[in-house]
Amino acid sequence: MELCDLTIHELRGLYARKEVFPSEVLASVTRRIHKVEKDYGAYLTLDLEGAAEQAQAADARIKAGKALGVLEGIPVAIKDNLCQAGKEATCASRILQGFVPPYTATVVRKILAQGAVILGRANMDEFAMGSSTEYSAVKESKNPWDPQRTPGGSSGGSAVAVAAGEAIAALGSDTGGSIRQPAAFSGVTGLKPTYGLVSRYGLVALASSLDQIGPLTKDAEDSALLLNILSGFDPMDSTSVRVKELDYTRDLQQDLSGKKIGLPLEYFGAGIDAEVKRTVMKAVDLLKELGVEVVEISLKFTEYALPAYCIISSAEAGSNLARYDGIRFGKAAARIEDNLAAFYTRTRSEGFGPEVKRRIMLGTYVLSAGSYEAYYKKAQQVRTLIIKEFNEVFQQVDAIITPTTPTTAFKFGEKSQDPLRMYWSEVCTAPVNMAGLPAISIPCGFSCGLPVGMQIIGDHFMETVILNIAYQYQRVTDYHKARPEPVRKEGTA
Ligand code: GLN
Repeated sequence: MELCDLTIHELRGLYARKEVFPSEVLASVTRRIHKVEKDYGAYLTLDLEGAAEQAQAADARIKAGKALGVLEGIPVAIKDNLCQAGKEATCASRILQGFVPPYTATVVRKILAQGAVILGRANMDEFAMGSSTEYSAVKESKNPWDPQRTPGGSSGGSAVAVAAGEAIAALGSDTGGSIRQPAAFSGVTGLKPTYGLVSRYGLVALASSLDQIGPLTKDAEDSALLLNILSGFDPMDSTSVRVKELDYTRDLQQDLSGKKIGLPLEYFGAGIDAEVKRTVMKAVDLLKELGVEVVEISLKFTEYALPAYCIISSAEAGSNLARYDGIRFGKAAARIEDNLAAFYTRTRSEGFGPEVKRRIMLGTYVLSAGSYEAYYKKAQQVRTLIIKEFNEVFQQVDAIITPTTPTTAFKFGEKSQDPLRMYWSEVCTAPVNMAGLPAISIPCGFSCGLPVGMQIIGDHFMETVILNIAYQYQRVTDYHKARPEPVRKEGTA
């Protein structure tokens, strides 16, 4: 175990006792990056010089005995759809090449204010559309547990960086599962907060009513620490909610006896790999030993959640992506000259990849006068039913447990030609976004050497409950401590 394999809370302890300094941690992370990044491709861009300066400043504050930020000297990666003033943000799309935002996302501002050392920008599926990083216009990121396989997506680069020790923690975004699914595939902990808890200001929008930013970390305690920083009302985001500020580490130590967990039959049915099911059920048995009461529940609208998600997310994506016209943002493929329509067409045809185009077409279609009622409106009605159903269930239980994904990490090329099979990766996660609920994915075992993720869903703003369950589970298990071998080239770099 090297310094780059430690957690935020472990490093904070070492810093507080002045046993280790941020520059040494950064040096360890940098060595790991040099060793594995060529093979794994977690990052689109790295700024190791900038990181070194930040780390030295943190060294100095620690040595001087100054008050330390929560992330003082902690190297983190951020997904390429989070804006930072002066740093190119491309969303792994050709159309945004060269786009340098003039402003900084609230979450980035907040982690910087707490002393975080930003290493670079993590790879993702183009505009966060996808489940494997195969739709990145730049490159694929590889799963460190088996580089023949995808790390999941769209926050695949963030997940790889954390799993491989190329960052201590990372930020991602989750519209239908893009934090939790790559966390499950890559064996890390990923939290999607309640809609509205974390400001989306400065996040390049995919589907505004579903998007949330959240942490990818090595354990639940680190998730809680990061959520403390990320959460909070922001006047710059009109959907940001004014809730009482909480310390999300508050309930971690609480004992689980008396907690009631619901197991929805629909999430353990057809299409879910038998080994994944077995592994999650074993984790549930362990929770029972910790005092949790488990009841079977039914969420019967589940089968409609994914189709409705596809309609709503594509409709919103199509509208959000209308702004990329080659004039206001990023790259123009032609000169405007005298034909504006041709200019737009050429810029967008060359700038967007196939998946993005597919969604713009679908989104435009479902919003068109002739099909709005049949598709978009229906999908919104389904969404309401899903919300109601979850609300009812949360009258009876404290949390819901499901597999995070129907299978473990799949191979490159296995689904990229078949969008419907790719969308199926989010069957267990997208309903959660439709209802705006918080959920965390934690490692709960392995199947054929690949990590399996367990999803714990909570009621709105009940992050403390799911973090408590995740923490208690991790207290008695070691799956979150398992690290992939730092590839073939160990010792030669
Ligand atoms: N894979 C899902 C999609 O492509 C989820 C995307 C996301 O959460 N950003 O829509």
